[in-house]
Amino acid sequence: MSKRLNSIEIKKINRNNIYKYLYQRDPISVQDIAYSLKLSLPTVAQNLKELQEKELIVETGLFESTGGRKAKAIAYNSTARYAVGLDITRNHVGLVLIDLSGNVLNNSRRQFPFENSRDYFSGVGDLVKRFIEDCQVDTGKILGVGIALPAILSADKRTVSYATVIDFQGGTVELFSEFIPYPCTLSNDANAAGFAELWGRTDIQNVVYLSLNNSVGGSIILGKNIFAGENQRSGEFGHMTLFPNGRTCYCGQKGCVDAYCSAKVLSESTNGDIAEFFKQLKRRNPPQTQAWEEYLSSLVITINNLRMNFDCNVILGGYVGAYIEDYLDQLKALVALKNTFESKADYLQTCKYKLEATAVGAALQQVETFIDSI
Ligand SMILES: [Zn+2]
Repeated sequence: MSKRLNSIEIKKINRNNIYKYLYQRDPISVQDIAYSLKLSLPTVAQNLKELQEKELIVETGLFESTGGRKAKAIAYNSTARYAVGLDITRNHVGLVLIDLSGNVLNNSRRQFPFENSRDYFSGVGDLVKRFIEDCQVDTGKILGVGIALPAILSADKRTVSYATVIDFQGGTVELFSEFIPYPCTLSNDANAAGFAELWGRTDIQNVVYLSLNNSVGGSIILGKNIFAGENQRSGEFGHMTLFPNGRTCYCGQKGCVDAYCSAKVLSESTNGDIAEFFKQLKRRNPPQTQAWEEYLSSLVITINNLRMNFDCNVILGGYVGAYIEDYLDQLKALVALKNTFESKADYLQTCKYKLEATAVGAALQQVETFIDSI
């Protein structure tokens, strides 16, 4: 039996639908909203009035008239709220401020090695407060702080259930939030980055995100939702076995993808500097060219396995994904050669956020919660 909704609930659903409709589109008229959402003009007008009073929408001008009065163009107000995202890594903290559209308004990256201590969490709190001060935005408009960690989280995302990259097993969101005067949420780093890549895209629903950072991770997004797995361990592509009895992975196993496809494998030859690696590669320096060819041969197997498993778009992200654009055609050709069913690899894409995708994704979790609450 379906539950009958009362008028307050219906009103909230209408308002939320109208806001989400505006969020996904360019400026639009009241008439178009009413027509598309099958709502009456007075209902739409009343809801828009409420959203305008809250400064969540703005009038951006008038449409050209096709006879009669010109219609107002209405859009959502992307700077009505902001969110902060943190990317916590073993040695650094990345910080971003985004608006409701996911545009990065400010970013900063500090060397700040992780330590499971009060000093560290209080230090992160100071970094956040100073960063927000530098951003010079109305602090009343900040929704909260999304914190991405190289760790596997509990189902409620408040506790760390597994971590080896940083020493934070059993860690909680409270350890951070004690020193951050905004609501805080935790995300897995690769899931956050994958979430950011799909945000605002209406052309694809399913994606496998392969994060090629100093450790390899990933994220499986089906029907726009992260598939977390039964133990929140889905998308740990870094620990798929690539070569039985191969190189030893940091996890202790042998032959994992991570040992062949992490960004470190490349930047090893340039003192850990991945930008420098790609500079040398462009100059066709022999050590980098050889490392790249070896790297690609492992990456191709990994990508082909993902395509065979998921049959959807594969997005390459992380430090390597940010530089791979110039080599995408070469990579597509190699991947296509391995494929049983397809002669082209157009499913392969590079990430749109070349910088701080993880921090952006963590911040977008705050934005998503806000949009759902309107
Ligand atoms: Zn491993």
